[in-house]
Amino acid sequence: MHRFTYNGLPSRVVFGQGTLANLPAEVDRLGLRRVLVLATPQQEADARALAERLGGHAAGIFAGAVMHTPVEVSERAVALARELGADGTVAIGGGSTIGLGKAIALRTDLPQIAVPTTYAGSEMTTILGETAGGEKRTQRTLKVLPEVVIYDVDLTLSLPAALSATSGLNAIAHAVEALYAPDGNPVVSLMAEEAIGALARGLPRVVAMPRDVEARSEALYGAWLCGAALGSVAMGLHHKLCHVLGGSFGLPHAETHAVVLPHATGYNAAGAPAAMQRIARALGADDAARGLHELAQRIGAPIALRELGLRESDLDRAADIAARDSYPNPRPIERDAIRKLLGNAWAGNAPG
Ligand code: NAD
Repeated sequence: MHRFTYNGLPSRVVFGQGTLANLPAEVDRLGLRRVLVLATPQQEADARALAERLGGHAAGIFAGAVMHTPVEVSERAVALARELGADGTVAIGGGSTIGLGKAIALRTDLPQIAVPTTYAGSEMTTILGETAGGEKRTQRTLKVLPEVVIYDVDLTLSLPAALSATSGLNAIAHAVEALYAPDGNPVVSLMAEEAIGALARGLPRVVAMPRDVEARSEALYGAWLCGAALGSVAMGLHHKLCHVLGGSFGLPHAETHAVVLPHATGYNAAGAPAAMQRIARALGADDAARGLHELAQRIGAPIALRELGLRESDLDRAADIAARDSYPNPRPIERDAIRKLLGNAWAGNAPG
């Protein structure tokens, strides 16, 4: 017996190679005349090239996006948008830059065009995580969903192999948790299984040959579906652990997802057998958690939290924080079992 609720999100997606050429038309379609272009300092050159494409429709550039969307940075960007009379934003970059576009939209309602260059998936969600006073808080609101997303495979060719691997596993984590989400539904599950398969096929080829356009296309297609899954349903233990490790211990976002994913999947295995079957099938593996661990090793992703700078003495506190709040998860949140999971992930052991 099927029983579910399905909520579609209103966003327009343009996908392909060379699709950045569509940007002026998309800006026109939204009726924008003066957009503010957003980027990280590392991608300022991309922002300049993009602004040139827009000619007089680009009001200026803010190349100050940083990870975890600190409110001070967002407020500076909002001030610049107001000073320039911007009527929209174009964010070119990964989750950090797209997060800045969302933070501006939250405060100003300016329409957004997102041009993702990693596999993080933020462009497809109504989620915004912001940091203030050293604490990261997350909210879901339609106000921050980008109106238009332009996926251009060419823009991902420069994503270094190591970041491609960890960012790809970050994407897979969304699909894995979507498959056992309490508010899951058949459409999202189809997307999630297809996404895991596309990334599992694409990532090894991307890492071996970062400029292979077909492999990049497969990986970015998978990442889009993962982002859509993340945007549609609730996330569980895996995302909670990564939020704790990033927010309270300063661990890097994509790398942390890469290390934790096989362990969180192993923790939930008995609680979500049908999801595990679909994950394993998509990976072409016998077991979901082991399949993810093998994929991570094959693409050279980090496999131990200690490699990311977490101290062994932090594990107890991390387990305490992760076990403190309640959140949806197929297996109950048990503090000691989570401490064990974290210990294994810290040491780089195979998932339990
Ligand atoms: P990122 O955006 O911080 O990018 C990492 C680095 O790679 C940056 O220096 C960036 O400029 C560079 N880079 C990006 N694309 C590149 C390319 N194609 N070529 C060369 N360099 C490139 O990393 P991320 O993992 O994409 O995003 C992480 C952030 O996104 C975190 O703050 C996370 O919380 C957030 N996030 C939010 C959501 C959401 O739904 N709200 C989803 C996923 C991630």
